[in-house]
Amino acid sequence: MWYGYVGKILRVDLSRDEVWFEPLPDESVLKSFIGGKGLGLWYLFNCLDENISPFDPANPLIFMTGPLTGLPVPCGNNTTAVSINADTGYTTGASHTHGYFGPNLKKAGFDGIIITGKAESPVYLWIQDKETEIRNASKFWGKDTHETEDLIKKDVGEDKASVAAIGPAGENMCCGAGIWNDKHHSFAHSGMGAIMGSKNLKAIAVYGTQDVQIRDEEKLKEVAKMWRENLWKSDVVNALAKGGLPQSEYKYTKESYLLSAKNFTDVSPPEFAVGMSKFKYKPKACFSCPIACSYEVEITEGPYKGFVATPAGGGENLEGVSSLLGVYDPGATFYLIELADRLGFETSTIGSTIAMLIEAYERGIVSKEDLDGMELKWGDPKLVEELMKKAANKEGFIGYLLSLGPKRAAEAIGAENIAIHVKGTGINLHDWRVTWAILLGQLIGGGYSWPAPGVDAWATEPDIGYDSYQDPFDWRLKPKAVRDTQLKKNWVDSIGICWFADWGVPSALEFEAMVVEAATGFTVSRDEALIIGEKVINLERIVNLRLGLRPEDDIYDVGPRFLEPPPKGPGKDKDVRKHVKWMVREYYRLMGWNEKTGEPLKSTLQRLGLDNLI
Ligand code: SF4
Repeated sequence: MWYGYVGKILRVDLSRDEVWFEPLPDESVLKSFIGGKGLGLWYLFNCLDENISPFDPANPLIFMTGPLTGLPVPCGNNTTAVSINADTGYTTGASHTHGYFGPNLKKAGFDGIIITGKAESPVYLWIQDKETEIRNASKFWGKDTHETEDLIKKDVGEDKASVAAIGPAGENMCCGAGIWNDKHHSFAHSGMGAIMGSKNLKAIAVYGTQDVQIRDEEKLKEVAKMWRENLWKSDVVNALAKGGLPQSEYKYTKESYLLSAKNFTDVSPPEFAVGMSKFKYKPKACFSCPIACSYEVEITEGPYKGFVATPAGGGENLEGVSSLLGVYDPGATFYLIELADRLGFETSTIGSTIAMLIEAYERGIVSKEDLDGMELKWGDPKLVEELMKKAANKEGFIGYLLSLGPKRAAEAIGAENIAIHVKGTGINLHDWRVTWAILLGQLIGGGYSWPAPGVDAWATEPDIGYDSYQDPFDWRLKPKAVRDTQLKKNWVDSIGICWFADWGVPSALEFEAMVVEAATGFTVSRDEALIIGEKVINLERIVNLRLGLRPEDDIYDVGPRFLEPPPKGPGKDKDVRKHVKWMVREYYRLMGWNEKTGEPLKSTLQRLGLDNLI
């Protein structure tokens, strides 16, 4: 009998048109890596061929829930996609989605899905209460993510199904292509949509009705109640709740000089989002979510009046296709985020690529003749629309160039110095040049969402000893803050909840450990939770080293503009570049890794019980 888990993984080989089931690994593996990112990495580690590219049919695309996914705990709805990162090409990819996809998967009888191979022609996967089918998707190929979701729901005859689909960007294997589900949510980072496209897999539709068994339901409900009450003590939860970020007109982001603008040549333009609060908002909560950061918005005035958009709630997705490109009009911002979602583009990667190209054009690095006759400029929503469509379809030279992502596109035109990227992919927007822990977290990450939040902005972390914000520029404090918050984040990324139920929430770590124990029957203390986070980070490091990551990549494989002092605000004249090398090496030391090579020391792996992995 399984508790918290349902005990089964769905295996799919698209080359052989076969599906089969296998049991979850034994308890010792689950206790070490739990689920979500951790368990996904464990599967990747075990079937990894480091000589293959992300688009090789043998590269597994892994979707993994955690023991809390689908349970009545705050935001118990996370699913993590794990694979070789298509955007960087040489690190692990990990990307988290929310909504109803994971809960439906668990209720359909599966903790995860592992997909290998490549279908001969476009297909989609239909999973319903332990039954699975590979179906023809030729008629959906070319459709955008939202159209695909609607059409597949009709095709399977189940309106309550959750559909995770790629758009043209994924079909054409563009850098920055993600997978969208339940309209508002996405596996946005790490190029998961491009990997799905490389397998000719258009979508996964899932619907389940079975209950997940809980070891101690009363205890789980009791702890979940206390946890729910504490959510509102976190600064960031209050800022995000009920679609709060746009309704505040990005006040905090702008006032903190965190709003990225014009390829980082500007920061926090005051005119961005002015008037956004006047639109009509309808919060859209995910499964078991009391926060409801996501929302539907109807534009009520201006040139986009009447347009309805369905964004996710975090702030960063809007910036990539608006302020980063000099677009400040609130209606245009929502129009463009909806377009990016439908094309299947993660906005930081496509936005940073377009922003780099506009600046390169302004500086005369490329000309109209080089760009299929197009003239580029800041702040033109129609131009951004055209460029995103060309990129998603790899149309013409300019479309091809933009589909390469910020690093490779900049290399192709000799504009490396003005590109913003980490290891080839877009960063998590905002402009982190005023928050050096978050910046360091981006550098040591594998090119995916929020490796380590630090405690510079948005939320403190009282559970791990950070009751107040740090001086964001005190470089001596950053390696430890990154290590500490990364341990907690990787635990959270593995248990099956949305991170917003944890970030800055007092006692969240205790509550999480208690509900994992109540759900599964595994004994987990708060300290053991952090050790699980540490194991996940070390496993990821081992996989990254096998894939070819070199220690210098954490220091130098970054777009130089990302490290330059911003032109105004508190970061002006603060130069992080002279501290980066020390911060990365100090972080290695604190992690128990070789300071020069970044390899986990044998003693570290022995302490964590992972020495059998090398
Ligand atoms: S906080 Fe937002 S993303 Fe997270 S579960 Fe709730 S609505 Fe979904």
